[in-house]
Amino acid sequence: MLQSTLPIMNEGDVPYEDPLDLIEEIERLKVEQNASILAHYYVDGDIQDIADFTGDSLKLARDATTISSSTIVFCGVHFMAESAKILSPEKRVLLPDLLAGCSLAESCPADKLREFQQQLRAKGHDIVTVAYINTSAAVKSLCDWIVTSGNAREIIEERVPKDKEILFVPDQHLGRYLMEVTGRQMILWPGSCMVHEVFSIQDLIRAKRNNPKAEVLAHPECPANVLNLADMIGGTEKMRKYVSSLRDPKTFLVATEANMIHPLRAIAPWHEYIPVPGIMADSGETCACNRCPHMARNTLQKVRDCLKFGRPEIEWQPYFAQAEEVLRRSLLS
Ligand code: SF4
Repeated sequence: MLQSTLPIMNEGDVPYEDPLDLIEEIERLKVEQNASILAHYYVDGDIQDIADFTGDSLKLARDATTISSSTIVFCGVHFMAESAKILSPEKRVLLPDLLAGCSLAESCPADKLREFQQQLRAKGHDIVTVAYINTSAAVKSLCDWIVTSGNAREIIEERVPKDKEILFVPDQHLGRYLMEVTGRQMILWPGSCMVHEVFSIQDLIRAKRNNPKAEVLAHPECPANVLNLADMIGGTEKMRKYVSSLRDPKTFLVATEANMIHPLRAIAPWHEYIPVPGIMADSGETCACNRCPHMARNTLQKVRDCLKFGRPEIEWQPYFAQAEEVLRRSLLS
């Protein structure tokens, strides 16, 4: 179910623990458990700093296949840990919080997709289903290609025959952007990311006015009105490469999850980065930074606990085999 508001994280009565003690304990447990930590660019900077690998979904899915340790702690969201398990079935894959989902993945349930594909085929549509990686493994198993913001254009242009119709799931904004850059017509699933949906266009215009020399960096999951104001549109890896290629200090207005500023600062600290504010859908108030509440479920305590207790673990499911075939063809070949 697509959520329209950003839920407030409530960690209840979790007692405070010193981050430095936690980091020391995690380092010790990592050795004991023969584990590697993979962290998405949207998780807290403290976790990115102790990770063995950081990256976007595509990079982390590939990194997971190259590591030799027997356990992976995936600091990200559920569909990412599933992909790591699918591509490295022999490894134990732990996710610090099993409730770390994704509004975009949840907007496209597998049973609804199967039904829609059947309806389209019954009406004579000769479809190829292209799915953004932000989907559950059950959805991936129903698709022909899996793409990320980094390789979507290439796969659509080079792998999907011109005489086929494309059903693109689940992100309508990325789909619309891909229609523009590839010139291909697509049937779009009406899903979206709760974080990228809520950017305040008025605040972006105001921030541009206040920083007339600033460039706007926007993730293609943003709606068209934000993308229209962007100087550079790209996924997280493309953003990192872009800012590090510019040697003269600049100011950037960043329209994606606010933690992305951490790896941007790490790779190109000479620039200034300003997060584009978002609007809370329930109250209409502007929020200072756009945090993904699912990514925010990853905390140092939970990383320590999952290493200590060996759970929550992503278990192999029967439909993973079909998803594996599609993922390998799309991301590793
Ligand atoms: S930022 Fe959006 S797409 Fe990414 S995990 Fe959070 S809800 Fe999903």
